[in-house]
Amino acid sequence: MQQKERIKKHILLKHHKNTKFRVENNTHASRHILNKYHNDTIFRNEIKTRSKIDILNKYHNNSDFRTQYKARSKQQVSKKYKSDPTIRLKTIERAMNWYHKNNTLMRQSSRRLYKQRRRILKKYTVRQSHKCADKHRNLHMNNLNRFRQIIREGPDYICISCRLALFRNQEHIQSYFNYSSTIEKKWICKLCSDKIKKRQMPSRAIVNKLKVCEVPSELKKLNNLEKHLIALRLPFMKIVNLTSGKVSSRFAQKGTKGPLHCVPSDVQDTVTTLPRAVDKSMMVRLQLKRRLKYKAVWEEQLINPNNVRDALFILTKMHPAYKKLLAQSLAGLKM
Ligand SMILES: [Zn+2]
Repeated sequence: MQQKERIKKHILLKHHKNTKFRVENNTHASRHILNKYHNDTIFRNEIKTRSKIDILNKYHNNSDFRTQYKARSKQQVSKKYKSDPTIRLKTIERAMNWYHKNNTLMRQSSRRLYKQRRRILKKYTVRQSHKCADKHRNLHMNNLNRFRQIIREGPDYICISCRLALFRNQEHIQSYFNYSSTIEKKWICKLCSDKIKKRQMPSRAIVNKLKVCEVPSELKKLNNLEKHLIALRLPFMKIVNLTSGKVSSRFAQKGTKGPLHCVPSDVQDTVTTLPRAVDKSMMVRLQLKRRLKYKAVWEEQLINPNNVRDALFILTKMHPAYKKLLAQSLAGLKM
């Protein structure tokens, strides 16, 4: 034992004092590791996964590295695209295929928005170029570029604990790595992660009894006016477009103006005055007014009384505010 220690000490001393020995030793060690890397598959895979995780971590947490990495990969791809015609053709074909495959309603509306934005930008750049002198144009383009840089990412980062959608540059969100599957990207907000590290339950976590329960199918199939009929409170508010002119009113951001009225409605009365349904597909034309003596109609739609009753039955079973509705009158309603 003592001899071993002595040898160890001797080698350490030699390592510190003798440069030639140190260099030799280092090269030997690196060669040994290289050999091991080439021959031992388990060791190789371990090193590969470790470096992958390191780079992913750096990518998600270091914004400089991320922008550099993005710029580099963008440059490489564009270079390939410009120099190699086969790659260019393939890219175009893939994009066309993707476009035709993903022609869903959501995409259509987002494409419409994109085109609208492009139109507006084009209009403005043409107008600006007429207005400004060259020095002003540079400033304008710089600001525009900076603005584009900022709006490139939206609140797309969802915390796995509380499901809050956050911006990445707010530094409230950090990457979360589940070491069993490193490919999938997951995010956790700072508040949740700090709490979890202290071994406490984050107050806004989904598992902290904040999960929203499934909406029953009877309530899901109701249309707007049917929902109005069975609601205990009807809110009335004035909704205005916050922006004007540039974007069409359907897509503009909305806000409320003036007071908000919550009108209690007598659901039991409403439902008992509805005509008895002859069969399940019977529809009734219904008008909603703010007051009965007013002439103006707020909303007009066809409703299915049967669906309304089914929804009300479900609500009396699961909602405490609806339990007051007399079971008797409901029993009379059921066919
Ligand atoms: Zn969270």
